[in-house]
Amino acid sequence: MKFGGSCLQNEEAFNKIYEITKIYENEKKIYVASAFNGITDLLLNTAKNVNNEKQIDNNIAIIEKRHIDVIEEIFEEDSSHYIKAKDWVDKNLSELEDILEDIKEFGLEPYYVDYVSSFGEILSTYILNEFLHSKNLDSVYIPANKVIITDDNFSNAYPLYQLTNNRVKNKIIPLLENMNKDFIFCVTGFIGRNKIGYITTLGRGGSDYTATILAHSLYEVGKEKDIKVILWKDVDGLLAINPNYVPQASLIKNIDYTEAKEIANFGAKVLHPKCLEALEKNKIPLEIRNFDNPDEKFNFTMVSEHSDKDQIKGISAMEDATIITITSGSMVDVPGVLAKIFKLMGKNKISVSLVSQSASEISTSYVVKKEDAEKAINALKNSEYFDVFYRIKAENVAIINITGSKILENKTKAKIFEALDKQNIYVKAISQSSDELNLSIVINQENLIDAIKLIHNDLWEEN
Ligand code: ASP
Ligand code: MG
Repeated sequence: MKFGGSCLQNEEAFNKIYEITKIYENEKKIYVASAFNGITDLLLNTAKNVNNEKQIDNNIAIIEKRHIDVIEEIFEEDSSHYIKAKDWVDKNLSELEDILEDIKEFGLEPYYVDYVSSFGEILSTYILNEFLHSKNLDSVYIPANKVIITDDNFSNAYPLYQLTNNRVKNKIIPLLENMNKDFIFCVTGFIGRNKIGYITTLGRGGSDYTATILAHSLYEVGKEKDIKVILWKDVDGLLAINPNYVPQASLIKNIDYTEAKEIANFGAKVLHPKCLEALEKNKIPLEIRNFDNPDEKFNFTMVSEHSDKDQIKGISAMEDATIITITSGSMVDVPGVLAKIFKLMGKNKISVSLVSQSASEISTSYVVKKEDAEKAINALKNSEYFDVFYRIKAENVAIINITGSKILENKTKAKIFEALDKQNIYVKAISQSSDELNLSIVINQENLIDAIKLIHNDLWEEN
């Protein structure tokens, strides 16, 4: 189970974790904790401002206070748990201050960023472990850098699964297989280490990923195959659409890995695509549940092999995009034109999303983020290849993505276009490849809200 920052903010939240522990008392449990809300941001800000004495003192004081406040709320004053937790905060903050001195001396090398930002989870998880002790539960604190081995890609490290499996086999499995059912492991989210021992981090929001990496390794090296991951969130699960667009957005109850990956890629912040990669191979189920309703029997999202096949799984939008269209008679049957376009984009570090070209090859359209548009146009205009024979056009647009295996049916597509046609919403470009469970539709920005509502109402409600 992974507990995010909002599951760790005060006494009430910690008591809810205790409640959850009782609901699952007959299962062996690994708890993965994030940093308290906002702490990772503060740590990163501190690392970047080592020369601003006042700001770092201020940040550290806030970090200290946030943790001490929780400690004072959840533990009896001067109990052994209270003292241990406070000592832990003291000890780690003084280590942090030493690192900040080093950064001042040597500059903010990439490995310092990860080292500094790891403290949020080191503090929160230790406090969680101590809280469980204070409830007479048997648990152990495990810093994830003892088990999750990653590459050297600081701030966005990728797990080396084989090496991580070995660590899990040696450090977790023996305990897990010999312990009582109610034993709990408290593992820091977000952090790992590279082969030479430097702390790495798995990317922002990476604690979910930690939970899924551990599930993967447990499955690979342990005897127990009945493993499930639960992410406790402040929503019921994945919604078919962002409720900012449609307040009565429907909850997705059963979704398969492939569909979930598509949704996660389109900005549904609830789930990170990397998590699914770790689970899919061994078909480990993942539940997304509302922390406020730990007992909920029906309203949550289950990601597994099974999907409610007759449902569209998600409608999402990119509100601010630019579509660039390059037109020229001379593109027809000339090999390498697309390569030239995308090489230029790559060289300028511009990420391209939707691409659309008709079989006639007269023109090519592709979408970039609005803030990259000017750079993209300049790159094309300044290149010798595109400056004379080609017409280059850029328009600000919005994109709607509709996801789910159901999109593969013509009937579904017909309904979508009928719905848009009813309101005279003009479609500028579309993209859907043969096995992609996603249809992207490019429209004028001012039509976005109407279009989303039309599609949601026509496609979802009749299910
Ligand atoms: N604390 C980290 C972050 O804020 C990881 C996480 O919360 O999952 O990005
Ligand atoms: Mg967080």
